[in-house]
Amino acid sequence: MSRIAYVNGRYVPHADAAVHVEDRGYQFADGVYEVVLIFDGAMVDEIPHLDRLDRSLRELRIVEPMSRPALRSVMRELLRRNRIRTGLIYMQVTRGVARRDHPFPKQAQPSLVMTAKRIALPAAAAVENGVKVISIRDIRWERCDIKTVALLPNVLGKQQAKEAGAYEAWQVDDDGLVTEGTSTNAWIVTKDGELVTRNANAAILNGITRLTLLKLAEREKLKFVERGFTVDEAKQAREAFISSATSFVTPVTQIDEAVIGNGKAGSVGLGLRQAYLAYAAGEGRTS
Ligand code: PLP
Repeated sequence: MSRIAYVNGRYVPHADAAVHVEDRGYQFADGVYEVVLIFDGAMVDEIPHLDRLDRSLRELRIVEPMSRPALRSVMRELLRRNRIRTGLIYMQVTRGVARRDHPFPKQAQPSLVMTAKRIALPAAAAVENGVKVISIRDIRWERCDIKTVALLPNVLGKQQAKEAGAYEAWQVDDDGLVTEGTSTNAWIVTKDGELVTRNANAAILNGITRLTLLKLAEREKLKFVERGFTVDEAKQAREAFISSATSFVTPVTQIDEAVIGNGKAGSVGLGLRQAYLAYAAGEGRTS
């Protein structure tokens, strides 16, 4: 079955899905995006993702491309046409097509593009072994809270990780504190058993998965704190993991050359992963 994409009002074969060369997303990265997890045929945390999309649009003064009910119905139609049970919806809104000039165009209509794809859940053994991350300097701008398509530093960081045989790169700010991964939030469990993730301000994207995990941690009465931590503290930690709509909770068992804990996924991370999967199959769903 061929994939179908949504482009500015039309459902088109994926191979033919295209925007104009003067789309400001293409020329200036003048746009925002969201990625929503589809789990067992339903969307997970759909409303918080759409709330974050609205916030990103507001921060950049891009007009909403359509009403929320209309957007939700396009999402559902795309899932239906692509017959996705487990996968992702990617949606991108840009300031639209206009003659190339830096200031906002007076009359551009925002562009809306949506695609959907299947993903496979990793095998239990892969989760148990965890992944490696490397630490790199955070060279991004000062509004990382906005989910913009301007991802070049993230792309370069992820490529650096890949070339180092790692899955992710943790970015480190000028104070020596880890901000986040290139497409994930960063977490550790200290030797005292405290769960730590960076406080959400303009230095990180406030992950929807991050917020759900904090809610689940609270419910499970885990001790947690939102604060920055150094790479050294992370290397000494009992556990580490990353979170995102695509990777849920993925244990980290190596940071640079340091092995974390006993080199296997830790119990807090695995417990939160299970709790998240239960949430995705239950109260987090909208269909
Ligand atoms: N941080 C960055 C830089 C990201 O790009 C992402 C996801 O794409 C995340 C964190 C995790 O966010 P979420 O949990 O909403 O997927």
